[in-house]
Amino acid sequence: MAEQSQQTQSSMAGLLLHLECQSCGARLVLEPALRTTRCPYCAAPAVVERPPVPGVPEPVFALGFALTHTAAQEHVARWLRSRSRFTRSGIRSAAPGEVRGVYVPAYLYSVLAQARYRASIGENYQETETYAVTDEDGKTHLRTRTVTRVEWRPLEGELASYVADVLVTASKGLENAELEALEPFDLRGLARYTPALISGWVAEEPSLTLARCQAQARSEAVDRVRGLLSRFMPGDSHKDLVHQSRLDWEALDVCLLPVWVLAVKYAEDAPPLRVLVNGQTGAVHGKAPISPWKVLAAVVTLLAVLAMGGWFMGGGR
Ligand SMILES: [Zn+2]
Repeated sequence: MAEQSQQTQSSMAGLLLHLECQSCGARLVLEPALRTTRCPYCAAPAVVERPPVPGVPEPVFALGFALTHTAAQEHVARWLRSRSRFTRSGIRSAAPGEVRGVYVPAYLYSVLAQARYRASIGENYQETETYAVTDEDGKTHLRTRTVTRVEWRPLEGELASYVADVLVTASKGLENAELEALEPFDLRGLARYTPALISGWVAEEPSLTLARCQAQARSEAVDRVRGLLSRFMPGDSHKDLVHQSRLDWEALDVCLLPVWVLAVKYAEDAPPLRVLVNGQTGAVHGKAPISPWKVLAAVVTLLAVLAMGGWFMGGGR
């Protein structure tokens, strides 16, 4: 353990600059030439130099950038332009010039899950049913029809499955939901991490605790097992599926993911809008806030149009 943390310190410290955003908590690692005063995640001008944090786990894998800066700018510009016209002012016209590439830390998790499950399995069967109808003259006739019914039977069992490639964020600057929105990454492109790989880029060190990331990864793995079990159930339908999974052979490695980040500061009174681009596939994610005033104005206009229409129709008589 002592050996490992020493190694971490030496290879991460080196000639690199360690910065921390006092607004979102992102811990950046970069070459002195890339020194920045604004946080690439949240655009806060609160980035300060900090001593290297001891014991930070070293990246094991990294996925390189496949999308160029220009292509990322184009993706963001297209995305900004295509926002709804109810989006707050300044967003659709924001210049995507300050798109920055960041190697975001995530944990790559895999596990062997042994699930014990219990469920009710439904088998459909057809039955002929007799029913009565009364005609116009008040006479009653008996008719038959075919109906589908379900017979339920209990099922119990075990299913072992290997769950791989679960990615969870290790960054305070980028939430897990945001990472999920950028997925999938094509993990066939994973390479062993070397400092040379991130040379010229801003990287972030894991800033979330290992315990927290591990809990998140386990919960995602169990969710996947649930989905797998659900698809695995025999019969025509099933209900009351419950399962308990034992997790063995866990692997949890820090992996750096290529993400282009644009923090758009469009108003003084609002937090910046963050637009993210998957640096491998070009998928864009962001949540452009809607302007309540624009929506209100549109509703008022619509009501006015409807009222005018009503007035004209009423006046035509
Ligand atoms: Zn920040």
